[in-house]
Amino acid sequence: MIKIKFYGAAGTVTGSMHLVRLPDFSFLVDAGYFQGRFSELNNEPLEDLRDVPYLFLTHAHLDHVGRLPVLVRNGFRGTVITHRATWHIARYILEDAFNLMDEEEPLYDFRDLQRTFALPVKFVEYGKEYDINGLKFRVRDAGHVLGSAFYEYEYRGKRFTFSGDLGNRNKPIVRDPEMPNRADVVVVESTYGNRDHRPFQESVEELKEAVFSTLNRGKVLIPSFALEDVK
Ligand SMILES: [Zn+2]
Repeated sequence: MIKIKFYGAAGTVTGSMHLVRLPDFSFLVDAGYFQGRFSELNNEPLEDLRDVPYLFLTHAHLDHVGRLPVLVRNGFRGTVITHRATWHIARYILEDAFNLMDEEEPLYDFRDLQRTFALPVKFVEYGKEYDINGLKFRVRDAGHVLGSAFYEYEYRGKRFTFSGDLGNRNKPIVRDPEMPNRADVVVVESTYGNRDHRPFQESVEELKEAVFSTLNRGKVLIPSFALEDVK
């Protein structure tokens, strides 16, 4: 029997972290940080996950990787399974989060962060199939940010799919998300699942309008999104 437990992103948004218990071993999908009005949830104690041998990462946003140093602080020493780009970007994201962390009540310290980057890592590639201890999985392109993936698992004839965030189509640089295959169970990101996105051109027009109407009166400051490789 396969059991799934959700440590976040269920009944809330952010904090994506799911434990899959197979008869022989367990694995985690993501170890995300709760953000915004849910940030108090980061302080909730986690159960003992020291024996979990694998952690799959879907992508490098903080709400999918931010509790990894907390896991490490609690003794997690498993192998991180991830696209190379995700692991590369996760370093920036986690270092940045560490510098911004509440000094009064830190969730982890610098050594935990160092230990995080000393974890064993297995890099995986889009389209390839892998097998660990009888758990087969295929890595698919989620089209969300560089390195973003969703995983199609197969174990003893059962197929189950975990997505992190899924991207939009026709975006520059990042490819379109791939179509998933049939599965018995799908765990899917659904933050905006109850809304239709409006056409991209309408958003461009709105931004233009906001910029030009502000420029008539003063300066425009545009905070950039917190995920970018500086090299
Ligand atoms: Zn994301």
